Amino acid sequence: MKVPLLDLTAQYGSIRAEIREAMDRVVESQGFILGPEVDAFESAMAEYVGAPHAIGVASGTDALLLPLRALEPRAGDEVILPAFTFFATAGAAWNAGFTPVFCDVDPDSFNVTVETLDAVWSPRTRAAIPVHLFGQMAPMEEIVDWAEERGVVLLEDAAQAIGARRALDGADGAGRMAGAWAPVSAFSFFPTKNLGGFGDAGLVTALDDELAERVRKLRVHGGRQMYHHEMVGTNSRLDALQAAILATKLPHLDRWAARRRENACRYEGILSDVPEVMAPKVLPGNYHVYNQFTLRVRRRDELRGFLSERGIGTGIYYPVPLHLQECFASLGGRVGNLPVSETLAEQVLSLPIFPELEDAAIDFVGGSIRDFYGL
Ligand SMILES: *Cc1c(COP(=O)(O)O)cnc(C)c1O
Repeated sequence: MKVPLLDLTAQYGSIRAEIREAMDRVVESQGFILGPEVDAFESAMAEYVGAPHAIGVASGTDALLLPLRALEPRAGDEVILPAFTFFATAGAAWNAGFTPVFCDVDPDSFNVTVETLDAVWSPRTRAAIPVHLFGQMAPMEEIVDWAEERGVVLLEDAAQAIGARRALDGADGAGRMAGAWAPVSAFSFFPTKNLGGFGDAGLVTALDDELAERVRKLRVHGGRQMYHHEMVGTNSRLDALQAAILATKLPHLDRWAARRRENACRYEGILSDVPEVMAPKVLPGNYHVYNQFTLRVRRRDELRGFLSERGIGTGIYYPVPLHLQECFASLGGRVGNLPVSETLAEQVLSLPIFPELEDAAIDFVGGSIRDFYGL
């Protein structure tokens, strides 16, 4: 039995007719840049997330970059972000003109906390980027209070967490969505994300009117009116074709997330008594949408090879923490600085979790892991 880490064709097959209709509509109209398809998707996203503003941009990376550029950093301004995340979080901070400052993460949720953020805070800290890693939210209610006290602007990196939510009373499935806590937030529709486009695409949500206005300008060369530029922006629009595809997929998203959660539950049942395996921990109040199902395991690389020989695809997100990346050597990161991130980089292994995964495939993957550890 072959089990790929991700199979996008199964999902496409289930919604082919409606996607083709949406694509045809755009092609027949020949309206490819902004316009009604982008407006409609932005409205749908604003409503889904529960944020007053939604602005489509060219990628998740730009959804981080434009809000950071909107803050107009001066030399030496710092932005705090986790060392254990996808590179784009740090690359955007750097490219916007900030000095990235890496913090550690909580070993159970893989996310930043007030404690890990505050450990690297300095008077030069202008902004911080909590990442909702793998589809589980960081403890935003505490982080929002911390940011207010410290005078720090928050940018949520919700690239992996569309549809994730957090309820303080612990009610499962209720709560405020990722992307509706910080003044400004970033989403990605890279094809492997829970809501995937047919290429690169991203979106910014904002609670803050002024930041939203600045991002809207920055994506079209810094002006609301053509040929009048108040800021130096760039070209970073969401394609009308992508918007039409994403708007067609959005109504299916919660059902797909529910399937991911069922898959996670099935894995947990199979792996709960394997002492060498730690399944993902969900913090109280969190509705986890499992963009990744990431274990911490012993003998990770050996296990990965064993699964690969059985035809099972796995992923390592992420093998090198950001403070140890070659391109950031000038920032002075050293082995031992951020021990949790460094340990996770050696132990994490992501399993297939996509919504169309069959129960038999999950049983095969889980059973193979048990076999590896001799159970
Ligand atoms: C995917 C991702 C991004 C970047 O999104 P792109 O659309 O690939 O540019 C940023 N941050 C995180 C955490 C991501 O997973």
